[in-house]
Amino acid sequence: MKRIAILGSTGSIGVQCLQVIQRYPEKFKVRALSAGRNVNLLAEQVLQFKPEAVSVRDADAAAQLEELLKGYDVEILSGEQGHIQIAGMADVDLLVSAMVGAAGLAPTIAAIKCGRDIALANKETLVAAGRIMMDMAKEYGVKILPIDSEHNAVFQCIHGRDKAEIRRIILTASGGPFCHRKDLESITPDDALKHPTWSMGAKITIDSATLMNKGLEVIEAHHLFGMPAEDIGVVVHPQSIIHSMVELVDGGVIAQLSVPDMKAPIAYCLSFPERLDGVIERLNLAAIGHLSFEEPDTDRFPCLQLAYAAIKIGGTMPAVLNAANEVAVSKFLAREIGFMDIPRVIKQVMDSHKPIPAPSIDDIFAATEWGKDAATLLVHDNQGRVGIAHQSH
Ligand code: NDP
Repeated sequence: MKRIAILGSTGSIGVQCLQVIQRYPEKFKVRALSAGRNVNLLAEQVLQFKPEAVSVRDADAAAQLEELLKGYDVEILSGEQGHIQIAGMADVDLLVSAMVGAAGLAPTIAAIKCGRDIALANKETLVAAGRIMMDMAKEYGVKILPIDSEHNAVFQCIHGRDKAEIRRIILTASGGPFCHRKDLESITPDDALKHPTWSMGAKITIDSATLMNKGLEVIEAHHLFGMPAEDIGVVVHPQSIIHSMVELVDGGVIAQLSVPDMKAPIAYCLSFPERLDGVIERLNLAAIGHLSFEEPDTDRFPCLQLAYAAIKIGGTMPAVLNAANEVAVSKFLAREIGFMDIPRVIKQVMDSHKPIPAPSIDDIFAATEWGKDAATLLVHDNQGRVGIAHQSH
């Protein structure tokens, strides 16, 4: 029986992870859960899965959870230290890292240092600190198993292959809801939260609409598979049936396909190297009938190029790109800036950053804070000095 801890158990990935665990009770035991502020759902999860410890975002949330779980025997922790304790808990075989954003970095690093294998959904951690995390994983003998469907697909395609056989990774992108829309300036959060093929948390849904999600994934793939960014391509594939591909040196291409359902990559990470029987609906290609592909339009969606630029510059730049994106997305969701301001904010913050080459983990944390502050200042500057077009929706 594999003992599991989950960071971000109340999110889209966390909930689907628990659905898989619930379906295979003889295979998995939940030891610990951690979440942000959704204490009602967390309390339900505690009663159903009976973890020994949980952590929440802050003391307020912890007090609310204590009230909800009065008389129930579970250790309740809070804040970053609480998440770090959950991540490093003894008697855990696998940590699912599924918090959103840079908040997941410190607990995920703590888990690696404790020798815990990681099922990684929280791509922002690898974007910010990929080199450090991969070096640490090697040093502590830790497996990093990618939950992100594209990287999970690549992982399956290259498993057991010699690296010298691989010429290129091709990540597929759904293209988001605005693939062919002309007027991008007037897009509202409500428009952008409607993803055509995947149901996900708010931040990644907006990242998919701007194509930043694909940019973050290029950086993620670079670190996970040790491939230079120029050998990682992106192709838009609106049906999201092919989850990604690997081109071999002889010209052959290996692809991984399934219906779009995150429970498949989640289950593969939970049970690796075993495969579970009957996790998702089976693929019926004849019923789908048609798979299509096109080049991403990086003029209309500049975020993808910004991510390639960040990886080329290296050092602390990807952490700053990630931090600026997190702020810009939250400001867009709060209707403080427009959709196309997201790449403008990121570009201006990147332009004013002096990257530190070969950064330490403290440099990464500092660059993340700097990037968040710089983006926040930029958005809050109402003098028009920074050129962010404020829009009312
Ligand atoms: P959600 O927004 O649905 O969930 C985020 C989770 O993180 C929630 O449990 C939330 O808690 C928790 N959280 C947020 N901030 C904090 C904080 N400061 N401290 C503690 N917990 C916090 O996101 P998703 O599940 O969609 O995505 C999670 C990660 O997985 C992201 O990095 C995303 O890019 C990645 N991913 C997601 C996919 C998907 O299909 N959803 C696919 C591939 C990757 P609460 O709600 O209780 O406040």
